[in-house]
Amino acid sequence: MRYHNITKDDMLNGDGLRVVLWVAGCAHCCKGCQNPVTWDENGGLLFDEAAKAEIFEQLDQPYISGITFSGGDPLHPANRADVRALIAEIKQKYPDKTIWLYTGDTWETVRHDPMMKQIDVLVDGEFHIDELDTRLMWKGSKNQRVIDVQRSLRQPEGERPALHCGDYS
Ligand code: SF4
Repeated sequence: MRYHNITKDDMLNGDGLRVVLWVAGCAHCCKGCQNPVTWDENGGLLFDEAAKAEIFEQLDQPYISGITFSGGDPLHPANRADVRALIAEIKQKYPDKTIWLYTGDTWETVRHDPMMKQIDVLVDGEFHIDELDTRLMWKGSKNQRVIDVQRSLRQPEGERPALHCGDYS
């Protein structure tokens, strides 16, 4: 997996103060994307042990609520296996920290990925510039959903996912 940045004390990409991993690679090509530089899966830097240590150092801080995976798309085929493994490691080491993940895929197409069992919140769907609303919390366009993953997994398949309490749209 490759990545572009690790940002710290982030307040815009999930509840509380978070560390955010911005991965490389996205095939959605949304019109109006804010990060087209992240589309190339070969861009950025190799995600190595030093990068992982940088994240763990943040998660060691009691004031950090958790980690957000963004990009790029953490569920791009080039990233999925590594993201799944990293989430499993983080959940084991930091069971009280929350995990958020942004993807251009929809909940309906990813709900069976085993990593969903360990994710707290999934912000799903491509960015639709014609549905842009700058008042929305944690998402850019109205079609996207801020999904409470654990509640949604308990619902029968085919039902609309349960939304996180911060999704007012
Ligand atoms: S899914 Fe996100 S990163 Fe990928 S093109 Fe769309 S807005 Fe950009």
